[in-house]
Amino acid sequence: MRPETKDQLRSIVGEANFSDQLIDLVSYSSDASEHAHRPQAAVWADSAEEIQAIVGLANAEGFPVTVRGAGTGLSGLSVPAQGGLVLDLGRMDKILDISIGDRVAVVQPGVVYASLEKALAPHGYVFPPDPASGKACTLGGNVGTNAGGVKGAKYGTTRDYVLGLSVVLGDGRLMKTGNRAMKSVSGFDLTRLFVGSEGALGIVTEIILKISPKPLATATTLAIFDDLEDAGRAVSGVMASGVIPSVLEILGRETLKAINQNTELNLPEVDAMLLAETDGYTQGEADYQMERVVEQFSAHNAREVKRAESASQAAELWKARKSCYAVLARLRPNFTLEDITVPMSQVAPMLRGVQDIAARHQVQIATFGHAGDGNLHPQFLYDGADQDERGRVEAAAGDLFQLAVDLGGTLTGEHGIGLSKAAYMTLEHDPVAMDLMRSIKKVCDPNNILNPGKMALDV
Ligand SMILES: Cc1cc2nc3c(=O)[nH]c(=O)nc-3n(C[C@H](O)[C@H](O)[C@H](O)COP(=O)(O)OP(=O)(O)OC[C@H]3O[C@@H](n4cnc5c(N)ncnc54)[C@H](O)[C@@H]3O)c2cc1C
Repeated sequence: MRPETKDQLRSIVGEANFSDQLIDLVSYSSDASEHAHRPQAAVWADSAEEIQAIVGLANAEGFPVTVRGAGTGLSGLSVPAQGGLVLDLGRMDKILDISIGDRVAVVQPGVVYASLEKALAPHGYVFPPDPASGKACTLGGNVGTNAGGVKGAKYGTTRDYVLGLSVVLGDGRLMKTGNRAMKSVSGFDLTRLFVGSEGALGIVTEIILKISPKPLATATTLAIFDDLEDAGRAVSGVMASGVIPSVLEILGRETLKAINQNTELNLPEVDAMLLAETDGYTQGEADYQMERVVEQFSAHNAREVKRAESASQAAELWKARKSCYAVLARLRPNFTLEDITVPMSQVAPMLRGVQDIAARHQVQIATFGHAGDGNLHPQFLYDGADQDERGRVEAAAGDLFQLAVDLGGTLTGEHGIGLSKAAYMTLEHDPVAMDLMRSIKKVCDPNNILNPGKMALDV
């Protein structure tokens, strides 16, 4: 980047909001994945007008712009793969409106998920997607990745709650999509196109979100299965039982072992453990649904079913699930958390397949995840300095993605494509779909300045 270009950036955002200091460039070179690439400069913008001016300059000078929320992405999403500028929107963090009457919240992209949660709480409302990284990640990042969470089976993902957006396109034009109405079939659904577009089509500067009343009651149960297929059939049974649990989580044998090695929880090291939560506006409603869930657990040979009788017992049952990520991350020098997603009926075959892949490539994979929507998190644990082991992990990951697609599923249910899965896009998307995605990228970002090198879009 030329010194004159840096001066122009300084004049757009102000001296205090520009940096080419090494400490910032190193900080902005990575996200929560293993990928890293250093940018040449970083800016903190605080209006759509500034962003338009930055994008205009990028088009004129030909440097890439990678927009960044909190950098908690797990697939090399906000890593500036081809250098250029990192555009940090963390300071555009105002909640512009909360209207309970309209059931909407209007926010800037840098609002942290937990801040919106806190602002909605006094009204008894929530923004349901609930990603586990909610204390840090931004709503702009949630839109960029279509974030979801443990409640996806019942409440869906970010895309289901975005009513409208303001977006600066890659050519610098500012566009508004959608509106505050609960229903609209007016024109193509551009809002949904931009949700999950990983900062490659446009830069979101304002978001209109649908919010929901918070359920007041929950019921929680944990079930232990000696046999994986029984657990898989129990998942399908629950989903066909006429109720939809708000949570249906699964922990596989390797994960249970790892938790035991690192905590005092002393869990049974069985094939699978399922954790279910139901919710409603009365305790009776939550309990009725839980009875249907427990019937399915019992009908499919659960060895033990523990039902929480109080909030503190429910918190005890949640402990194992909540410890997964941190416990597994400590076991080996490196880890990669995948998020393949399969139809619910294929959860057991997928889990069995993961075990076969681990054995075939002699790698360590521990799996947990959201059985209720088929979104599983096989976590590869390895030593990245060991080239042989790294090679085996890469080969195993390729088999994992192929299996997920063969079972009717997808490469990613939450974490996005980014750099990590770009090479596998064509496993899932046929040539016509790839061609259309690349054409859309070209229309929105003709000079390929927005987050280039990702999602196999610029091949
Ligand atoms: C411990 C941990 C737990 C996690 N749990 C979950 C989980 O339960 N569910 C889940 O879905 N994810 C989860 N994640 C992944 C991550 O938190 C989400 O992908 C989150 O949505 C990223 O938000 P962010 O603000 O950090 O965005 P970043 O990582 O900064 O960016 C993510 C992508 O969005 C784009 N982007 C950011 N802001 C904008 C904008 N304003 N306009 C256009 N594009 C934009 C970026 O360019 C990038 O491609 C987890 C991560 C960690 C580390």
